[in-house]
Amino acid sequence: MIKINVAEIKKRLVGEKTLAYELSPAELEITPEELVIDSTVNLEGTMSNAGDVLLLQAVMTAKVQRTCGRCLKNFTGVARAEVVEKFYPASAEHIENDAFVYDSDVIDITEPLREGLLLAEPMQALCKPDCRGLCPVCGADLNDGDCGCDRSTVDPRLAALKQFIKN
Ligand SMILES: [Zn+2]
Ligand SMILES: [Zn+2]
Repeated sequence: MIKINVAEIKKRLVGEKTLAYELSPAELEITPEELVIDSTVNLEGTMSNAGDVLLLQAVMTAKVQRTCGRCLKNFTGVARAEVVEKFYPASAEHIENDAFVYDSDVIDITEPLREGLLLAEPMQALCKPDCRGLCPVCGADLNDGDCGCDRSTVDPRLAALKQFIKN
């Protein structure tokens, strides 16, 4: 859990607090099932007084384990997440939907950081931009060289297209 004291920030309209942390996955409440983090999570940012709300702006980077969507190998990637989140005082009249609310001088910022890092993960990661993937016939990793299989008729969509061009 990551909590910050905003008592000083709230006193001044341009109050700002610099944030610089090395966070463990446990502090961010991220389990290995959600994301395997190989390092600490580096966070740099600010919490500032934006008048009616407090504004959290942060950039997080960490080394994470990813699985290549083409060749299925595990590899280490660098995650980078930007978080911009408003915190409303509980007494505020107009609170945006899903916005975070605070009612004391100590604000828990764990949830927006946690969500930000998890949401920044790509749906399909690639071990390298030109990963050749696995052979759909024999399953060999084509990055290690060609297996010699005839893959020309494997994809039915491709086969249909070839037929179409022929006609
Ligand atoms: Zn790959
Ligand atoms: Zn093959």
